[in-house]
Amino acid sequence: MKLQPTEIKRLPAGIAIQWNDGYRSEYSQTLLRQKCPCARCDSLRQGKEPLRILPPDDFFEKLKLTDIQLVGRYAIRLIWSDGHRTGIYPFDLLRSLSSPPTNET
Ligand SMILES: [Zn+2]
Repeated sequence: MKLQPTEIKRLPAGIAIQWNDGYRSEYSQTLLRQKCPCARCDSLRQGKEPLRILPPDDFFEKLKLTDIQLVGRYAIRLIWSDGHRTGIYPFDLLRSLSSPPTNET
């Protein structure tokens, strides 16, 4: 069975996903942003940027998830209050953030 969300819900500071195998996941927006899979966040995380522009210390306190958009049938795009919108989160990634990997074939 291909794991797919059946329901995605906004929480006050994150999202909840109901999966088609009955599992329910919750993600804080801080976790989601820290795991943003876009190329820019990825290179920042890996320290590859020669010049790093760091956010203020209260960045995550003030940051808000402003919208969730479906991308085809495989991912969601998260839109953030600071204008960041290039992060596309495949369902596989979301599931792996919430639980140990399953050994399905
Ligand atoms: Zn990003």
